[in-house]
Amino acid sequence: MYQTIVIGGGPAGMIAAIKAADTGKPVLLIEKNEKLGKKLYITGKGRCNVTNASDVEYHLKQQTCNAKFLYSAFYSFDSSLLMAFLEEEGLRLKVERGQRVFPESDKSSDVIKVLEEALLKRNVEIMLNTPVKQVLVDKNKIHGIRTSKNEDIIGKYVIVATGGVSYSMTGSTGDGYQFAKAFGHKIIPPLQGLVPIETIEEDIYALQGLSLRNVKVSINNKENEYYSDIGEMLFTHFGVSGPLILSASSYIPRNVKLKDVQIRIDLKPGLDYDKLDKRILRDFDQFQKKAIQNALKGLLPQKLIPLILQRSSLDGMKSVDQITREERLALGHQIKNFDLHIKAFRKFNEAIITRGGVDVNDIDPHTMQSKHINGLFFVGEVLDLDALTGGFNLQIAFSTGALAGISTLE
Ligand SMILES: Cc1cc2nc3c(=O)[nH]c(=O)nc-3n(C[C@H](O)[C@H](O)[C@H](O)COP(=O)(O)OP(=O)(O)OC[C@H]3O[C@@H](n4cnc5c(N)ncnc54)[C@H](O)[C@@H]3O)c2cc1C
Repeated sequence: MYQTIVIGGGPAGMIAAIKAADTGKPVLLIEKNEKLGKKLYITGKGRCNVTNASDVEYHLKQQTCNAKFLYSAFYSFDSSLLMAFLEEEGLRLKVERGQRVFPESDKSSDVIKVLEEALLKRNVEIMLNTPVKQVLVDKNKIHGIRTSKNEDIIGKYVIVATGGVSYSMTGSTGDGYQFAKAFGHKIIPPLQGLVPIETIEEDIYALQGLSLRNVKVSINNKENEYYSDIGEMLFTHFGVSGPLILSASSYIPRNVKLKDVQIRIDLKPGLDYDKLDKRILRDFDQFQKKAIQNALKGLLPQKLIPLILQRSSLDGMKSVDQITREERLALGHQIKNFDLHIKAFRKFNEAIITRGGVDVNDIDPHTMQSKHINGLFFVGEVLDLDALTGGFNLQIAFSTGALAGISTLE
């Protein structure tokens, strides 16, 4: 009989098993894939942004929901403790722009290797190629798990670390939701988070590959503004992506009609309308008698100019000295209000994170234990938790996983 059985060999499951085995009790880690950490392997474009070296308060601010639930988990195993742990286990780390932490080698495989070694060092038994199909409970108390081969394995505690439903080819197929549902846990319907957006406007598809820096993206409908920030974005063959758009997607409430949501791009957030007009006038001065499409090259990326002119109802061949004040103001307005509308989020296989999952109201935040079943824990992305990019999502996995593992020690 095992003291603790952990289902799922992602970051949350691996750290849970490591912590649960710290006092030498028998621990089993079961993973359905042929290897551990398949999603971890592709994180940070293969470099693994393993956490963020900022303090707990900052981590809490990066959550898009249920931040309060994470207090205990973050304070019991924060990013500095995670970094110290990884370094003690032999992984050298480096801190980059925005306090993002990566392995010095830039290889996510090194993070996985160190976690695997930590598991083996603590004699955690690892069972690969073994999907769990059921969590076994007897009189509201954990009994063990049943594998897809109908083998029952008995354990005192079970930690569910099966992930969400994004990038399902890595193994996260939502199995944890079924385990949770079976014991009366509420599931907040999964929704794509940190995901590119398809736009209704098809004219921008031709801008594919164009990346913009220092632009302001705001997301709103008639009543509310959901998001606004300055940074980088990217045009694609279906709409928009890039850091600002991914973050913005996670703030769009699940109950709004997407087609009513507007993406407003301010291409010159550093200039107010007046300053922008003066700037345009200066550029016009330099390009007297030239076509307006040539006069905007200093102000806008070349690829964007025809679309901006078209949206401002201006003929690109028109000479700058024939442009009226109204036309110039319309141009300035278009530059600060390049509006798009949402057709759809891209699918889960392009979503960095799953929003929704096991309702945290059914989970004790001090231990990660279910409020319905004694000895059953939920950790990582299977829970209704998600944050912005920058290492914050992996910290959720590591903090909640570690807390559950520690909670099974006696
Ligand atoms: C492309 C991409 C890049 C990312 N980059 C970053 C980044 O740089 N930094 C960051 O902080 N976050 C990043 N994330 C998010 C991060 O990867 C996740 O938040 C994190 O992996 C969640 O960890 P987890 O252990 O909860 O779940 P997962 O990593 O999904 O692990 C769950 C595991 O459970 C296993 N499993 C599922 N069901 C069963 C079952 N029935 N039986 C047995 N095993 C099962 C799965 O096979 C899987 O191995 C990225 C995500 C993606 C998709």
